[in-house]
Amino acid sequence: MIFIGTMNLSRTRERGDFYCPDCESMQAYRLKAKRPWITLYFIPVVPIGKVEIVIRCDKCHSNWDESVLKVDADSHRELLEDQASYEIFRAVVLYLLSDGYMEENEIEPLREIASEVFGRDVDREELGRLCSSAEQSGIKVRNYVTSVLRYWNPEQQRLAIQSMFLAGSLRGELDSDRLELLMEIRQTAGLSDQGFRTLIEEGLQRSDQ
Ligand SMILES: [Zn+2]
Repeated sequence: MIFIGTMNLSRTRERGDFYCPDCESMQAYRLKAKRPWITLYFIPVVPIGKVEIVIRCDKCHSNWDESVLKVDADSHRELLEDQASYEIFRAVVLYLLSDGYMEENEIEPLREIASEVFGRDVDREELGRLCSSAEQSGIKVRNYVTSVLRYWNPEQQRLAIQSMFLAGSLRGELDSDRLELLMEIRQTAGLSDQGFRTLIEEGLQRSDQ
């Protein structure tokens, strides 16, 4: 009887350092080339299929496409920051919409809050898109913030709470539901009374400018 089978052979072709998006730091990698072979009596004799290249992080063992070698720490950080901006603003919109509606006179101040969060000018059209996609998600602001807050750094957490406070105050005094919600979020973020007060004061100065 002849034993014929197949086997995936992988060998390390290169080593180097790369920016691992999972570890969020520079790590050593192995560039592995994988290729299926036909085996005869368990010995690989003929290669079949094409070579597949995988970059593997030595630390966390995650596998990446070769293009990961082009990602550097700066562009990765930019991507993360952009994502956090979307999350922060979505939280603001959900917070504002927690009573189910938005008024025409809230649009312009909200656009200013958006521009602050994104660090660039946000026009009415983009604002409309951001609001309707937040609304369509149908997620309650409490649930949303609880799930994304831990991915924000302290600065982003402050920006989020401050922006929610400003958005919630657009109709005058914060109503009790919104205040309660803000207090919960504050607690999740682990902010002290003093830290919270400073943040609100800064927020009020921000809206006076
Ligand atoms: Zn890694």
